[in-house]
Parts: sequence; structure tokens; C-alpha cells
Amino acid sequence: MSDRKCWIDHSGIVLHSVDGFDIIHCESCGFKHIIPIPDEEELERIYKHEYHVKDKPLMLQHQLEDKEWHAATATARLEAIEKQLKRKGSILDIGSGNGFFMKQAVELGWQAKGVEPADKAVEYCHSIGLDVIHGVFDQQCADSIGKFDVVHLWEVLEHLPDPAGMLDLCRQVLNPGGMVVIGVPNDYNELQKIMSEDLGEKPWWLAPPHHINFFNRSSLERLLRRLDFEPLHYEITFPMELFLLMGKNYLHDPDMGRECHAMRKELELTLTRTGNRDVLDKLYESFAEAGFGRHAVLMAGKTTNIRNI
Ligand SMILES: [Zn+2]
Repeated sequence: MSDRKCWIDHSGIVLHSVDGFDIIHCESCGFKHIIPIPDEEELERIYKHEYHVKDKPLMLQHQLEDKEWHAATATARLEAIEKQLKRKGSILDIGSGNGFFMKQAVELGWQAKGVEPADKAVEYCHSIGLDVIHGVFDQQCADSIGKFDVVHLWEVLEHLPDPAGMLDLCRQVLNPGGMVVIGVPNDYNELQKIMSEDLGEKPWWLAPPHHINFFNRSSLERLLRRLDFEPLHYEITFPMELFLLMGKNYLHDPDMGRECHAMRKELELTLTRTGNRDVLDKLYESFAEAGFGRHAVLMAGKTTNIRNI
């Protein structure tokens, strides 16, 4: 496919067309995204109610079943953040969901505040004593929320019509020497392409309008550098697509999806419980080098004079 399309000031080669949207490799943004980009009103309706209630009704139940794994995952991420920051401090979790990351941060001695648009998720966070603001992180919120050492955005940027605008707001609430920690799906990766181009699976990672943007390590780094953030540390999460290539096709079978998740969880918890988290890190570093991994996770500093990667 080599059609080009333009929409307002976005233009590029069309990679796919799904449900009335085109996915372009946008030359002005430097990453892949859908056009037309949905408007804020439509998105607010989706995220305030539908996403957690209708589209992801089992999310909290599954997270509670997985709470040991969530705690281990959050602890590992917080340790990686602390290594960069060289101390504990304050964290703003934008799109804090059901608060599993925040809860672990608080337990480990960080100060944590969240912002979350989904009403059910906020209710749950309040019920377990977490400090979460119900709403979206916009200019008004940024002006009044205070300053933080870390802004954490997990599975957020792929949903936003203006990810650069969001990162600019994050910069405004960061203390000097502060950093953003971003986790996004690592999409259009080689394993996905094998499944769709060579094995006939339709490109399942395209989910407009829920997913607007599609990043990988290089496009995320490019976006951050353009906004004067300095990448400090990169990691990935387990390349779940490997299960597809091992014959465990979870794409059309939620039970199989839970089974694959349980296997990944077992690997991570076994290595954590036996004190071998460093082995897991080594394994994941090699996957990251090869461009594999379900999520691309990037930590980037506000200042431009530190560089680790
Ligand atoms: Zn664009």
C-alpha cells in the first residue's frame, strides 16, 4: 500500500484502513496515527464511562487476581525510576486507572497523586485511600496540581489526539531534574507483521478510535527529543506476540489470553521470588535490542545535560 493521505496538517503514507479511519505514517508528527483524529468530546464520552464499564468490565477483577504480579511489576519499575532519579520523591500518575502502580509507590515510600477520567476507577482508588483527581489532565489541572519529580504515563499517549501537547503539560509540572516515564504499546513490530503479513491475521493492534497513535522506541524517542526531553533509560515488557507464534492464538480467545498472561506472569514471578530479577532484566534487554516487547517503556529527563542511552 503506498497511497498518501492528508488531513488538516497531517500527511503520510497510508499503512492500513480500518473502520473508517486511515493509519498514516505521519511526516509532520514523526509517528504513526489514525486520521481523522477524533475530537475531544467524543473521546471524553468514551473514557469517562464506556472504557472501564463497557469495554473493559473485567479489568479490575483481573487486576485483583494478579495483584502480586502487579506489585512486583510496579516495584521493578519504581526501582528503575529511583536509579535514574537517585532518590525517591513525588509521582504524578496520569491515567492512573485502578491505582495499582500508585498503591505500590505509596507502599514503597513515594508520594503519589493520580488523575483519572474513568469514574469507576476513581471510585475504586478513593475506596482504598489513594489521592486521585477525577478528570482529565489539561492546562487548568496542570496550573493547580503542583510540582512533581516524576510524571508517569502508562498506556496514555496512544489514546490522545495531541500527545505532544500532553508531554508539554507534563514538562510544566516537573521539578528541575524531574522525568517522565512513558509506557506505550510497541506497535507495528516485526512479530505483529509476521502474524498479519505472513500468517493472514488481521492487524489486531489497530483499535480506532481507542488507539489513535502507534509508537515504537525510535518514534517515541524522536517525539521526546523534539520536546527537549533527554531519553535516560529504555525497557520493554514481555513480547506477548511470541505466544501467537508458538501456536497460542489468544487474539480470538479471551481464555487463551488469560492462559498466556499466566505463563508470562509465572516467568516474571518465579525469577522475582528466587531473587533473579537481574536475569529477567537481561532477557528483556536482549528483546529490547531486537525491537521486541509488548510495551515500549521510556524514561526521559526534563533537563538536557544528562545522557545514559
Ligand atoms: Zn500527524
